[in-house]
Amino acid sequence: MTGRTIWAPWRMAYITDDRRPAANDECLFCRIGNKSADDRANLVLGRFDHAFVMLNRYPYSSGHLMVVPRAHVDRPEALAEPEYIALMLTFRLAVSRLQAALSPQGMNTGINLGRAAGAGIADHLHIHLVPRWEGDHNFMPVIADTMVMPQYLNELYDILWPYFKLERTDS
Ligand SMILES: [Zn+2]
Repeated sequence: MTGRTIWAPWRMAYITDDRRPAANDECLFCRIGNKSADDRANLVLGRFDHAFVMLNRYPYSSGHLMVVPRAHVDRPEALAEPEYIALMLTFRLAVSRLQAALSPQGMNTGINLGRAAGAGIADHLHIHLVPRWEGDHNFMPVIADTMVMPQYLNELYDILWPYFKLERTDS
């Protein structure tokens, strides 16, 4: 992440969230990645070969996505080459769909490898994709000011989902 702090008060919820999985619990990304029954509740926008795209429940900015390989690996070099290529193709698609849906003026993207680098879920590789606007006023400022986070995420999900729907390989 670059620049000044982005307005994201709900990140406090992450700090205080009891539902965060304990270290010995099943991996969140594996659980979500292997279950397609409730994609809306899990904020999964699209499932593709070897990878899926989901909204970050604790976003740095409106439309903060994560691109996640199905395989439970903690480093890119641990992926088989077809899995890595598939992940990058999914990443490229997510950039393009996010651009089409929200028209951000820029994006930050990156991977935190290891807890020391700030990874919240260090055991399962994931690529962050954070849309940015000049001054980082949210694209839905009026709604965002009056919505609680679950409503906000549902609203955002419904905006983004159609942009991924046609690309899904499992439907
Ligand atoms: Zn996992």
